[in-house]
This record gives sequence, C-alpha cells and structure tokens, in this order.
Amino acid sequence: MKISDIKTYRVKIPLREPTQFSWDPLPNTHFEFALIEVTNNKGTKGYSATQFTAQTEVAIRGLKPLLKGLDVEDFLANDRLLELGSWFFGRVGAIEVALWDLLAKEENLPLYKLFRGNRKIVKVYASTGRLAKSEEIIDLVKKYYDMGINVIKIRFHRTNIDDDLNIVKGIRKEFGEQVRIAIDANQAWGLVPPFWNRRDALKVAKELERYDVEWLEEPLFKDDIEGYMWLRRNANVKIAAGELEHNLWIFKRFIEENALDIVQADVIYSNGINECVKIALLAQINGLLFLPHAWDPGLGWLANLHLTASLPESLTPYLETPLDPLWWFNDVIQFAFKKEIEIENGYVRLPEKEGLGIELDMEKIKKFII
Ligand SMILES: [Mg+2]
Repeated sequence: MKISDIKTYRVKIPLREPTQFSWDPLPNTHFEFALIEVTNNKGTKGYSATQFTAQTEVAIRGLKPLLKGLDVEDFLANDRLLELGSWFFGRVGAIEVALWDLLAKEENLPLYKLFRGNRKIVKVYASTGRLAKSEEIIDLVKKYYDMGINVIKIRFHRTNIDDDLNIVKGIRKEFGEQVRIAIDANQAWGLVPPFWNRRDALKVAKELERYDVEWLEEPLFKDDIEGYMWLRRNANVKIAAGELEHNLWIFKRFIEENALDIVQADVIYSNGINECVKIALLAQINGLLFLPHAWDPGLGWLANLHLTASLPESLTPYLETPLDPLWWFNDVIQFAFKKEIEIENGYVRLPEKEGLGIELDMEKIKKFII
C-alpha cells in the first residue's frame, strides 16, 4: 500500500469569545489548526490535525517528495526518517498519526486495537487553561464534578505565587477530598512571566505537599534536567513533564536521571504513536506513570485517546481533556467531528469504527479553510 498524496488544510475558526490561556501573551479571537490528509494508491484517506500550521505546511512540503510512492508500513517502521523529519521540520507526529489512521482503516480496525489495546472506555481528567478567578474555577470544578470528573488540572502562572496557591486552598475548602488536584505551571515554554527559578519551584512544591496534589507539571524550563532531578529529590510531590519533547532518547535521559515521576509525551508533539508507546513502556519498567499531553485539536486528542486505550490502566489511568472554557471541548476540540464524543460519568468511550473512528464534517471544515 503506497502513499500517493499528502496535503494540509489550514483551518481557522472563530471563538465564542476572546480567550486567553495561561501561556498566551494576548487573548485569542480565533483558533487555527492544520488538518493533514494522506491518501494511498487505493484512494483511502487518513487524517490528523495539529495546532502548528505553518510548521506543518513546511514539513509536508519538505517530506512530500520522500513520502510519495513510499510504502505506508515502511514509513511507519522507519524511526530514522521520523527522527530526521522532526529534526528538519519540527513535529512530524501528526503526519505519523494520519498514516496510522489510514493503515487502521485498511485493516478495518479501530486504531487502539491495531496497538492491541483492550480498554473500551477511558477516564478523563479536566484540564483547565485560563488563569480565572477563584469563584469561576470553583464553579467550573462543580460542573466537572457533576460530569463525573474528579481529577482536575489547574494552571499556576499568576504574578504572585500566593494567588496561585489560594486557588488550591479554595478548591480543597469547597470540595474536601472529593476532587484530586493537579497543577500545571507551564514553565517549560511560557512566553510571559513569571518565570520560576529552581527555588521558586521548590517553594511551590513544598506548599503543595500540604494539599495532597496529584502532581506538579513543568515547574521548570524544559531542558533543566538537573533542576528537575534536584526538585524531585527535595520535594515530596510528583513531578511531571515532557509534553514538548519528541523522542525516546530524550525521555530515556530524563527517566534514567530520575528527573520525573510522570512522563507526558504527546503523539502529535513527538515522533508519533509508535514513539510514545516505546516511551510509555520505558516509564512503566521504571515504575513511573505515563500521562500523555493532549491539548491539540480533536484528531490529536483522539489519537492520544487511542494511545491511552492501548496502554495498561495502571500505567495511564486517565487522559488530559481540555475543558476550559467548558465549550472548548465541543466547539474547538471536536469542531471537525460529524458526531461529538460525549463524556459519560467521567469517561469517554473508544470509537469502534476503523482508524481514529470518527467521521469528519468536511462540508463544515471547508467553510473555514484559509
Ligand atoms: Mg502541560
């Protein structure tokens, strides 16, 4: 089965209201993503999506001559091509995912079954994105709890660390032990201050010990491996990171240096699903958790869902699901889906159709291609 074509569509959708996430320098009025379409010599199509539009267009322009006529399975088995693709063009995971979607369609299997997964449902955790006020966050947490979700991730990126900590205090006061709280500081890549140093990160971690949080994510810049090691030695809270890293070799170093408790590769941001399975197994044999990052447009989130369903629940108990603002999950994440995936009692059901398992609403998508 040969690759006959690969295309990218740039899709830009208006948001209900201007939205600023903790990592954004300015509010956004639109959300833009790249829809990737691969076609084989029989005319079957595979899809994927990523938020990195210009980078993806450049990658596809560069890789197209190499991919055209190549056997799909040969490409997917070619670690070197994927790694060099990432080195030249940035993130090629989305291209890998589109090819897996295509292959799974040809095999007539849902993608997770191609990876021998057997989880029919996967628990989600609610991932917030904004630095909202305490009352608004409490209100959101109530809504999550009513949806059956009891693991919630809060952003820490306020100028004053005490203001961040007060959010956790407020949730604990309102909900007691009914909800489990994780914290994401986004220090690995935030464009806007505050930028924590190692002592700031340790101060926060020590404070968080009192609130029994699930984990502290990206408390330091992404390459400060010694900082992660030092923090993990000195604080009694689980440390998570890795959403921006793209290959097994980098994760091998983080894991072997005892720098992490929770490993967070993303199928779109890394070299793809195959790479993430290897990284997850490395986490497993080192007694760590593997919780994929999954904040990308729907097909990216969905690919991380299939990855999660193919891994043991003890290794990957739940999947990040962007739910802040609440409408983000349906309006943006699932924008391209003909039929939305529902969260039922805190879980999502794996689609049983072949490939990624959803039908794209191409008529709707076409209206927003730029
Ligand atoms: Mg994160």
